[in-house]
Amino acid sequence: MTMKYSSKINKIRTFALSLIFIGFIIMYIGLLFKNSPILMMLFMFLGFLSIIASCVVYFMIGMLSTKAVQVVCPSCNKVTKMLGRVDICMYCREPLTLDRKLEGKEFDETYNRKKNKVTEL
Ligand SMILES: [Zn+2]
Repeated sequence: MTMKYSSKINKIRTFALSLIFIGFIIMYIGLLFKNSPILMMLFMFLGFLSIIASCVVYFMIGMLSTKAVQVVCPSCNKVTKMLGRVDICMYCREPLTLDRKLEGKEFDETYNRKKNKVTEL
């Protein structure tokens, strides 16, 4: 396994941040259409929507963070937050699990996605 995983909260945060950038890029493209007000308005509106969406995502992160379980990472002894049954430490990328059945197994994100697979184990 050479794939790098990042903590779920961090992933969503990156997504929200990229939405802001995409929003600004779309609005900037809109500025290039100065000759056609309709196109410019359209791009401005799309860019605005993207930024609004990012705010919503940030709000959701806030909500999720309150639901996230705080655990002390066994590897770096820092307090980290985890979502779902398996997640990784925000600081040292140590795989963490709340499910004792999965303890010691190789980290696999599919434990969260495919619920059927988990029941088979
Ligand atoms: Zn850690």
